[in-house]
Amino acid sequence: MSISLYAFNCGWFQCKAGFFIEGLEDQSFVRSPVPAYLIDHPKGRALFDTGLGERNRRAIEARLPPDKFGLELFEGMDIAARLRAIDIDPSSINWIIASHLHNDHCGGMMFVPNATVIVQSREWAAAQACEDPWVYNKVDFDTGHSVKAIDGELDLFGDGTVMIVPTYGHTPGHQSAIVRLAGGEILLAADCCYTERNLNERVLPGFTFDKEAGLVTLDRLARLRDKGTRIMFGHDAAMWKSVTEGAPVS
Ligand SMILES: [Zn+2]
Repeated sequence: MSISLYAFNCGWFQCKAGFFIEGLEDQSFVRSPVPAYLIDHPKGRALFDTGLGERNRRAIEARLPPDKFGLELFEGMDIAARLRAIDIDPSSINWIIASHLHNDHCGGMMFVPNATVIVQSREWAAAQACEDPWVYNKVDFDTGHSVKAIDGELDLFGDGTVMIVPTYGHTPGHQSAIVRLAGGEILLAADCCYTERNLNERVLPGFTFDKEAGLVTLDRLARLRDKGTRIMFGHDAAMWKSVTEGAPVS
């Protein structure tokens, strides 16, 4: 039994550096990845997040100017194209673990037809109740997929190799996944921790639903990192330099 993890960049997130770190005055713009991950397990295939969807697609010639906030997806970057590039049929994906239901995490669900979406009940409820399409947009998450709403932890394959864990704070029902590979344990953080600096300095972004819960989550991540768990951050351009797309993470 072996399990493989792949990391893909399924879009770009361009914003001022201060968007990620509350109180940071840095007005320069950074261009960060929008990650999605494939977990290939003998008992099935799961994605952790799916990147951007069709409504963020742009032609490369129409890319954002370097001083503008926004999200963009270019040809060949959507999750279906990323999967096909490693000879995986998007319709063969069994599960989508949705860290949360913001569009840069669930927008690509539209490209993955047969999967069941695993989301925290409280996240699903918050997204359904939200009337601000800039925060949660039904186009992204209300896609007709089967939904498995959970409360708290889930051992996805029943063997401890993929543990879905609540990491509340960024949103009401944010969750992460801990993947146990032969070479060690990796936590796919998503937006409970945008960058390594958030963890090192124990600082949250200004845009955080519940700051108290967010700090509890950061402390949990710090303890896991101390024990040797590698953290894959939500939108960390520096970390992404160490990722090779299309090759298993080891
Ligand atoms: Zn995000």
